Amino acid sequence: MSRIAYVNGRYLPHRRAMVHVEDRGFQFADGAYEVIAVRGGGLLDEGPHLRRLHRSLSALQIAPPMSDAALKSVMRETVRRNRVSAGMLYIQVTRGSAPREFAFPATARPTLVMTARNLKPLDPKLLTDGVRVITVPDIRWARPDIKSVALLPNALGKQRAKEVGAYEAWQVDRDGNVTEGTSSNAWIVTAQDEIITRHADQGILNGVTRLGILKVAGEAGLKLIERSFSVAEAKAAREAFLTSTTNFIVPVVRIDDVNLGEGRPGKLAGRLRALYDDYVAAGGGK
Ligand code: PMP
Repeated sequence: MSRIAYVNGRYLPHRRAMVHVEDRGFQFADGAYEVIAVRGGGLLDEGPHLRRLHRSLSALQIAPPMSDAALKSVMRETVRRNRVSAGMLYIQVTRGSAPREFAFPATARPTLVMTARNLKPLDPKLLTDGVRVITVPDIRWARPDIKSVALLPNALGKQRAKEVGAYEAWQVDRDGNVTEGTSSNAWIVTAQDEIITRHADQGILNGVTRLGILKVAGEAGLKLIERSFSVAEAKAAREAFLTSTTNFIVPVVRIDDVNLGEGRPGKLAGRLRALYDDYVAAGGGK
């Protein structure tokens, strides 16, 4: 089946879907994006994703490319035209195309691109066996809370993980604390059953999955703490896991060369996965 991309008002075959060479997304990574999970043809957590997109755009002073109602209709149409039932929708908004100059152009119209595709279900082995993460220095700019398309440090970190056979790289700040993965949030569980994930300030992306997990875990009466944790604390943790739109929850069983507990997925990660599956089946957050 041929894939269709939405580009600035038109639905185009993939091979003809292009933006201009002077698009500021291409020139300066001057744009923001969202990835939304599609389940049963519907968009999971559409509201929280759109709110985060608006937050990113407003932090970058990029005008929304269209009204929310129009945006939602393009989102649905992109999913529909690509016949996506279980997969993802990608949305990117840049400041637009203009002669190459750092200061914002006076007249450029934002560029809006959307693509969507089906994804293979997660390999069940990831859940039964867990994954390994490595630690890398967090070399990103000071505003990773903005979901900008400036993802070079993330790409370098993920590539490093891939080269050593790990699933993800956890980024570590100058104080030795884990901030987050290159494309996921990081969590640990202490011997006291406390579920810990870094507080969401300007230092991490506040994952929509992260927020969903905090909600279901809170409702289930689990002990939640949002605070920084060090690499040493993570390596001594009883369990760990990562969360994102495309992974939901994946247990982490090894950090660098240290096995967590018995090197098997933990019981709280499994419980949260089940709670989150129910949340997804119920249509997610509004
Ligand atoms: N942190 C980073 C750096 C990410 O790129 C992502 C995925 N976009 C996440 C966390 C997880 O966010 P979400 O749950 O919204 O996919």
